[in-house]
Amino acid sequence: MNPTREEYLFFSLPEKLLLYGLTLLSLGIMAAQIWQRVKVWQQGKPIAELRTGWRYWLPTREALGTWWKNLATYVLAQKKVRGSRPKSGAPMHLMIFYGFLALTIATTLLGINTYSPIKFHQGNYYLIYEATFDTLGLLLLFGLLWAIGRRAIAMREGKKLALETPYEAQKTDQRRYPISGNASDMAVLFLLLALTLNGYWLEAARISADPKPWDNWSWVGYAISQLQGPFSPIQYKGVYWFHVGLVLTFFAILPQLRIRHVLLAIFTTAATDDKPMGKLVPISMEEVEQTEQIGAKLPKDLSRWHLMSLDACMECGRCTEVCPAWNVGKVLNPKQVVQDLRQAATGGLALAETISEEALWQCTTCNACVEACPVNIRHVDLIVDVRRNLVSEGALSGSAAVMLRQTASTGNAWGTNVSEREKWMEGLDIPLCRNGEEFEFLFWVGCAGATDPGAVKTTKAVAALLKKAGVKFACLGKEEACTGDPARRVGEEFLFQDQASKNVGVFQRYGVKKVVTACPHCFNSLKHEYGDFGSTMEVFHHTQLLQSLVRKGDLLAVPASSRVVYHDPCYLARVNDETEAPREIAPGMADPQPSGKKTRCCGAGGGRMWMDEPNEQRPANARADQLLATGAETVALGCPFCRIMLEPAVKAKGGDHIRLLDLAEMLQEANG
Ligand code: SF4
Ligand code: SF4
Repeated sequence: MNPTREEYLFFSLPEKLLLYGLTLLSLGIMAAQIWQRVKVWQQGKPIAELRTGWRYWLPTREALGTWWKNLATYVLAQKKVRGSRPKSGAPMHLMIFYGFLALTIATTLLGINTYSPIKFHQGNYYLIYEATFDTLGLLLLFGLLWAIGRRAIAMREGKKLALETPYEAQKTDQRRYPISGNASDMAVLFLLLALTLNGYWLEAARISADPKPWDNWSWVGYAISQLQGPFSPIQYKGVYWFHVGLVLTFFAILPQLRIRHVLLAIFTTAATDDKPMGKLVPISMEEVEQTEQIGAKLPKDLSRWHLMSLDACMECGRCTEVCPAWNVGKVLNPKQVVQDLRQAATGGLALAETISEEALWQCTTCNACVEACPVNIRHVDLIVDVRRNLVSEGALSGSAAVMLRQTASTGNAWGTNVSEREKWMEGLDIPLCRNGEEFEFLFWVGCAGATDPGAVKTTKAVAALLKKAGVKFACLGKEEACTGDPARRVGEEFLFQDQASKNVGVFQRYGVKKVVTACPHCFNSLKHEYGDFGSTMEVFHHTQLLQSLVRKGDLLAVPASSRVVYHDPCYLARVNDETEAPREIAPGMADPQPSGKKTRCCGAGGGRMWMDEPNEQRPANARADQLLATGAETVALGCPFCRIMLEPAVKAKGGDHIRLLDLAEMLQEANG
């Protein structure tokens, strides 16, 4: 006998037709709800069609490669979920995902065998199929049990806290409710558990009703059948219809539940724009003339991809867990931002009003949320786009508004006069482009590097090291002006574009091919954003150039010391993926928790450096605690912004004996 199984066992034609009809009804209900959401997404700008190559919600031929790569990385390999902390439920999510995937594959294969002329569900293939998917289904079963247990604990804790916490505080303080333990989530988990258990029972019922010699290959169902004994055809059909009821209910309500991310995340992650994390998309003057506004005011001003991505949010809270603003008690909660934007998209509401302006200004654009999000939602794009609109309507006041005026009038975010830009060079014989010096590298000093006392030390150290290693470099001095990074991230797009155009003009005048800078914010803008304004330079962070000089033997590395702790700057480590160069020029440094790509922001980015905040809400204080917890006596840095924020915080907590040094200064000490 050839091992196989009969489909629609004991089913009459009318029963089959009833099954088809109910299936169509359930899928129709699901499709109608999805169509409602498609209409919400369709109100957005079709900009993503140009960048990621999709049209009518499907990939263009040119974009197919990117789609497959993204699918493999973010969906099949679950890159983001695997990278998150086990405490965030990652192993549980992986079990559910791979179990679900296995059962989807099993059902698809069965469907192909049943409804196509190709009949392969027999023989050894059939036996292996049964044994494999019976085993993999257990992943889903145990993952679901884990999820239910975890959520039950969270709900119990939440209930206890709810009795002690006023309602308004509960709404805003989700720190105390890390898992959304609401009843509908729990009901869905039970529905999935019932589906999984019933799947095994259905298999057992078939074996009990129509036993075959090879049934023990379906080992889970077989074991259950041995316990329950023989079944009549009626009993078997009862179990079958119960299973059909569960499956069709699941399909019909899927778009209403946050588990819809199993569908939507496939599209949003596959179509993720492959632009670098640190690049913001420019607004064109033509666009402003057409729309008569700057930035995003209403949902229609966001791109379709962004609107769709809001629906893919699985409300896991990973973004909030890593947000530096949230972690020091500010109101900004990136998960809530996504939920609020979704609500605004559904109701056509004003974005800034739905999110709350206070939260919008609290973002440091550190991208920790973007890095953590399993479905690739780009919170920073969304937040900056709304900020652009607020700035254009004059909503920005205080010291950040002063920073914008200073940048516009002096070309320096701190408002320092142009003549001050060359002060650090006094007595150092620094080559200047305008003197006709030949150079391989333009040393881009930056506003802080030219005028902030701490950052000037780094600038001098970099210049000394380049000289010592015989690197031909030159500076722009008075001809250098702010890259416009703080202005852009605050939301003043056209001030950034002015700065970028002017600076690119200067680069072109001097034929700059390579540039090195000690500021990760300048590095990011020059590397990723200046290309939109005609720049074609190769851009290096100073640690990258110093790393190559150490490798060549032109400079000595810093002697290893575990009494040094290194703080990875967000715009170098996370946004630009550079974590090795600093560790290679200064080996043996201790890593604070978190570090590397998951580093915690000092609080300066996104224009926050120029915004007032109470001392207890300064992210720098929280980061200082993490750095000092390593017991280090020296804090190594790679960013002037981090230095400005962390120096007072570390000194206040660790005392005056703690040194804060840029890696260039440490390398200078090591090279005498
Ligand atoms: S970019 Fe950073 S500060 Fe802004 S919401 Fe995301 S994690 Fe929070
Ligand atoms: S935005 Fe992303 S990380 Fe944040 S809750 Fe939603 S899915 Fe999770």
